[in-house]
Amino acid sequence: MAKPRSTPLTTQLELPFAPIAANPVVSNAAVLQGRAVPYILHRSPGRRRISLSIDERGLRVGAPPRASLREIESVLHAHASWVLRKLAFWDDRRAPVRRWESGEMVSYLGLPLQLAVAPGARRVALTGTHLQICSPNVATDAVSALAIHWLRGQALAHFLERIEHFRGRFTLEAVTVKLSNARSRWGSCHVSGRISLNWRLIHMPPHLIDYVVVHELAHLREMNHSPRFWAVVGGVIADYAARRREIRREAHRYLAD
Ligand SMILES: [Zn+2]
Repeated sequence: MAKPRSTPLTTQLELPFAPIAANPVVSNAAVLQGRAVPYILHRSPGRRRISLSIDERGLRVGAPPRASLREIESVLHAHASWVLRKLAFWDDRRAPVRRWESGEMVSYLGLPLQLAVAPGARRVALTGTHLQICSPNVATDAVSALAIHWLRGQALAHFLERIEHFRGRFTLEAVTVKLSNARSRWGSCHVSGRISLNWRLIHMPPHLIDYVVVHELAHLREMNHSPRFWAVVGGVIADYAARRREIRREAHRYLAD
């Protein structure tokens, strides 16, 4: 299953799924308990066993270069119930596709906002529980571009405020922040003092955003996930473990855009 990845110079707060691998991939399908199940096959020289992993994108099989399809299928059949159960789990959790139409809900700092889209001069405004978007063109692409531009602006302002709030706890002189757009991670940082935060964090409740901000700031002190690193995080956010679990459990909700 997806394992946290980190390197000495940059480190990432992983989502519950791993970034797409650069290995050769082949699409296949197996029939498991009467159901056709497509899967992506990754063959890599370093691998000695056949492994299965399932996430929101479906089933992936890792195999040694010379494993036969017959061997692969026999592993799939041996784990058919597990595979089908996991696929059903992810089907239930897949982020909804947003069409950026009036009446749709968008999460903002953990609170539901209802979209109100109207033709007019370009404008985005938050009024109570409504996000009002006026656009000369109300097609999905035009409205989503406006809305995401606004969300990114709010995200940056919120992140800067939270970094300023926590910076003193880490005795950090200067921290620069950059918005990222990755779907596979919430944050990353670099020894130079730069941290990247995913703008989609703005969909999350503030206590989860704070966890990600503190996690990345803590990496500027400890570039690893050692007990020392977690002690630094825990010194600022005592219940960090619960917040970390909550992010991993709820991540799928915040990835729709
Ligand atoms: Zn980390």
